[in-house]
Amino acid sequence: MNREWLKKLVADERFIAGIYNYCDRWCERCPQTSHCLNFCISEEESSDPETHDIRNEAFWRKLSEILGEALELLRETGEKWGIELETLDSVRDSESMRANEEAAENHVVCRAAKSYSKVVGDWFRGREGFFFETVRAANGGVDIEEAFEVIRWYQYFIAAKVMRAIRGRMAEEEERGEGFISDSDGSAKIALVAIDRSISAWAVISHYNPIHAERVFEMISFLDRLRQAVEETFPNARSFIRPGFDRIDLNT
Ligand code: SF4
Repeated sequence: MNREWLKKLVADERFIAGIYNYCDRWCERCPQTSHCLNFCISEEESSDPETHDIRNEAFWRKLSEILGEALELLRETGEKWGIELETLDSVRDSESMRANEEAAENHVVCRAAKSYSKVVGDWFRGREGFFFETVRAANGGVDIEEAFEVIRWYQYFIAAKVMRAIRGRMAEEEERGEGFISDSDGSAKIALVAIDRSISAWAVISHYNPIHAERVFEMISFLDRLRQAVEETFPNARSFIRPGFDRIDLNT
């Protein structure tokens, strides 16, 4: 990768600016890969099979090349926009960052989201036999395998995005005050999308496996309470427009 190539890509109009900031990182299932700069760069990088191998020296060399080019580009852009990157560090001292981090970790919504990750792990651990039986059933045309896939994909993602949203909200309140649509709403929005999809996936499992219906119902109601808590904490999140994924309603 060289800087000129990277610059050309950044300027390419087919890419939607910031699309990867509020997506679920599930590139395999993403309907917008052709508009995603992040995807394009990672595809380019993986065209050399060696770059995939973490043990391979070429991988680390390539990685440090990217870092060097990216920092150079960042410096150039900073100069163009009149931003001194060196001064950005001093915006918030490390002590207050640590305090915010702790407060975010202890926030009730973050704790609930993290318990969901754990409960899903426990649920799957106790039902490995069931998992294989169900996947066999899925071969008869039922899409239950995908339901498992969805739940597993979002198992930790939800907590990570809720944490990011809470952390972001704390920083934004310190800097600008409350009551505006912001980056933290974007993180909360994708967490809500993941929660909605997980609820649907659990519903598929419940439909095809009535023996586990009661436990699955508990999962769904846990997620539903989490969904409500996220919506209450981020009342603007649902209306946040994620570039490339949400449509702007011109009638509103
Ligand atoms: S926008 Fe799509 S392709 Fe790009 S990083 Fe997100 S999931 Fe992957």
